[in-house]
Amino acid sequence: MIIIMLGAQGTGKGTVAGLISKSIGLPQVSTGDIFRQNISEKTELGIEADKYISKGNLVPDDITVPMVEDRLTWEDAKNGVILDGFPRTIEQAEKLDEILSKNGKKVDLVVNLVTPKEELIDRMLTRRVCTNQECKATYNTKLNPPKEEGICDRCGSPLKQREDDSDPKAIERRLEIYEEKTSPLVQYYDKKGVLKTETVSLAINRMGKDVAEDVIKFLNK
Ligand code: AMP
Repeated sequence: MIIIMLGAQGTGKGTVAGLISKSIGLPQVSTGDIFRQNISEKTELGIEADKYISKGNLVPDDITVPMVEDRLTWEDAKNGVILDGFPRTIEQAEKLDEILSKNGKKVDLVVNLVTPKEELIDRMLTRRVCTNQECKATYNTKLNPPKEEGICDRCGSPLKQREDDSDPKAIERRLEIYEEKTSPLVQYYDKKGVLKTETVSLAINRMGKDVAEDVIKFLNK
């Protein structure tokens, strides 16, 4: 089963994907995480990707698409994956359809997370991530703080703010790109009849874990 998490930066795609992954046993494949891991290991791919990521721009398709295509061939992905952060453009979605159809697969479900813009910016500014690349736990200093400030509950490593979350210009740029390039995917997948839209918002007290529960129930029906 191929599941895609769609939604602007800061909606909690990673959190929801992680909870669904734990429940149904499919791996969560986050393109952002793969890039960040490569950046921290200073690989060739990481050095190239960082030029775009640090400014809040998209990494070009000739880097991103083969990286995802390769990840889909891993043993743990044979029964499917939860894609978190890919596709982000219509071109990427079309390429994904091609890659999947070569293997007799298709996109089965797209979970589209919607959050009011003012909450998104606040969520990005208050997001903290574990510096341990094996752990990658995510916190929020307001909504989901760690027990001890600055320390990961799960593995005890220090927490940090993502560089692209601390730069207001990069945040604004990422949200602009979402509107312009990624949001057309909502219609693309709606037309295919695979879209499930869910609101995540503090204003209505509906958090990522509530959405994840809903999606898991839907999948188990
Ligand atoms: P994320 O962790 O999903 O917010 O991704 C962090 C950054 O990685 C994004 O702002 C982009 O610069 C880059 N990135 C992640 N996924 C993609 C993608 N599918 N296409 C292009 N760039 C991406």
